[in-house]
Amino acid sequence: MKALYPGSFDPLTFGHLDLINRGLDLFGEVIVAVLEHPEKSPTFDLETRLKQIRESTNHLDGVKVISFEGLTVKCAKENKANLILRGLRAMSDFEYELQIAHTNRSLEACYETVFLVTAAHHSFLSSSVVKEVARFEGKISHMVPEIVAKDLRRLFN
Ligand code: ADP
Repeated sequence: MKALYPGSFDPLTFGHLDLINRGLDLFGEVIVAVLEHPEKSPTFDLETRLKQIRESTNHLDGVKVISFEGLTVKCAKENKANLILRGLRAMSDFEYELQIAHTNRSLEACYETVFLVTAAHHSFLSSSVVKEVARFEGKISHMVPEIVAKDLRRLFN
């Protein structure tokens, strides 16, 4: 099975990596699809985000990292994915995720979204929390892979 894991990954955290690893165990193949968001200005440009994820996953068999613009279901179809993978950290993620999952099913009924509940010790992690801590020069080595930590230090120091 091939799972499409879409997101902004701005930047990648250990929470995302945990989901990728567990997705691999369950499905065998995970395509990490980085959303381009032309209307939003991300902290890290697309090339940087792709590089961060590729370097952090290059020891894993079965991971492919791509970028996409537009509809997730279209990206899933083009890449012959069987399902969409997303993570749930807290109830606050649930409403938003439910709406997206319903929207995707209304567009392409064949696409189920599979949610993995975050590992408890990663449940506080989000890209924005990491950026906030990095901005004030707090410790981030337990939140993000080293390549991301380096990019964050360069950005804020
Ligand atoms: P988006 O802008 O699409 O929400 P994110 O990069 O913030 O993109 O998140 C991508 C996916 O990864 C989402 O399903 C999100 O719930 C999940 N995710 C984010 N942080 C974590 C975490 N700490 N643990 C598990 N899943 C996470």
